[in-house]
Amino acid sequence: MAFTLTSQLEFAAAHRLRGYDGNCARLHGHNWKVEVSVSGSELNDVGMLMDFKEIKRRSKAVIDELDHFYLNDIPPFNEALNPTAENIAWFLFDRLSKDINNERISVASVKVWENDRNCATFTRD
Ligand SMILES: [Zn+2]
Repeated sequence: MAFTLTSQLEFAAAHRLRGYDGNCARLHGHNWKVEVSVSGSELNDVGMLMDFKEIKRRSKAVIDELDHFYLNDIPPFNEALNPTAENIAWFLFDRLSKDINNERISVASVKVWENDRNCATFTRD
């Protein structure tokens, strides 16, 4: 039994995919939507797993590192790691897990939407 909280954020950024044969090899941008989910089974004294504001604040701090950038210019996407939705979801999951996870709460998944139709989800097994 566990509770899951999900918070949505957005950022805008450009990218191009290396080694990809198609439109996305060319420079273009997206208004990316991000869904951060945290889970845990024990609520605090107020009856919350975690304050939504706190999820948003911590997520925004990491997302600000990507917002309005050309992703191919910034680590970890400037070298071997392609700035795909999958890798962005992994990156955000990894960074947020280090910041948020404690004995009561852990990041359950990060979803990254490139547009209204397509999203990638990273979940730790
Ligand atoms: Zn793209």
